[in-house]
Amino acid sequence: MRSIIYPGSFDPITNGHLDIISRACKSFDRVIVALANNPNKQATFSAQKRLELLKVCTKDFKQVEIDSFEGLLVNYARSKNIQTVLRGLRAVSDFEYEFMMANMNRKIASDIETIFMMTNETNFYVSSKLVREVAQLGGDMSALVPKPVLDALAFDK
Ligand code: ADP
Repeated sequence: MRSIIYPGSFDPITNGHLDIISRACKSFDRVIVALANNPNKQATFSAQKRLELLKVCTKDFKQVEIDSFEGLLVNYARSKNIQTVLRGLRAVSDFEYEFMMANMNRKIASDIETIFMMTNETNFYVSSKLVREVAQLGGDMSALVPKPVLDALAFDK
């Protein structure tokens, strides 16, 4: 069985994340979408709410499991006995950070491989941060996030 872990903050999940997840489901039998619970990173939505949104928005993908972890991603991957990690790449801005992180992970755990999926052209500008900011100012986010997230953003205002 081909398994992969897709880690992230998902604060909140966007159509960009969903596109990566749906494409991963075409190549992998098991896709674990793992919420990185980082107490040092200030989040807008609670971990519980982000998990709830991840679950409801991915319920139609049979291969997807939702989970969360604390601490090092490589330790989490090993605990699941999975050697492959998936990250999404948008513009050049993602590249430097993702490149550093993948190399750091390889340095501390050479058994874990990171693979990248390029954003599609409709989602290349979609980020959780921008979605939150524009929604706060009253912008219409209906084309950028799934319906349950849209409702949660309206509630958060
Ligand atoms: P993190 O805080 O770990 O960067 P995010 O939830 O912001 O977590 O993103 C998780 C992963 O999804 C990252 O690899 C990020 O580059 C990718 N990603 C986010 N938005 C998009 C998008 N619109 N298209 C493709 N990949 C994306």
